[in-house]
Amino acid sequence: MELFGLWPAKVTFPGGWIQYSFFFYQSGDVKYFYCSTKVYQTYAAEGLANPRMPFADFACTPFFRRELEAAKQRSTASKQVRKEQETRQAKEEHPTGRLCRFCHRPVKQGPNSPHIHTAFPGVAGKYNYCPAKVFSLYQAEGMTREMTWAEFCQSSFYEAEKRRWAVENGK
Ligand SMILES: [Zn+2]
Repeated sequence: MELFGLWPAKVTFPGGWIQYSFFFYQSGDVKYFYCSTKVYQTYAAEGLANPRMPFADFACTPFFRRELEAAKQRSTASKQVRKEQETRQAKEEHPTGRLCRFCHRPVKQGPNSPHIHTAFPGVAGKYNYCPAKVFSLYQAEGMTREMTWAEFCQSSFYEAEKRRWAVENGK
């Protein structure tokens, strides 16, 4: 019988006497809180006679194995739930992979992303248009809001961005 990591959860009653019928048992991942009243209610019909049985005695009964099995299952089940939650969260946060560091939306073009994957005529390489990034670049030069790609193409900033991109891309 493994009893490491075991310590009594002392309960002091008004009269001053200490009730040792509660124990906190831990072995590996399994945490089990022993309450003599609770196990008595569970196993009285099967022959458990003492509602104030000390844990050390209870640990010698066959009922302890069953309690431990149940605790183990609870622990595994809650771990499974936690893992699923984490996986789901990770998926929600990164639905289509990498996020843009300017607008924090997926870099990939799509309904949840304002990005346009395109290219400038005459400039080699793909260009990913991010309205937020372009706005931050040209705000000082008079851009008043984030523009759609179509609007941007008509604007005076298009040529400037094309030149900037040609230089950056050429590096
Ligand atoms: Zn972006």
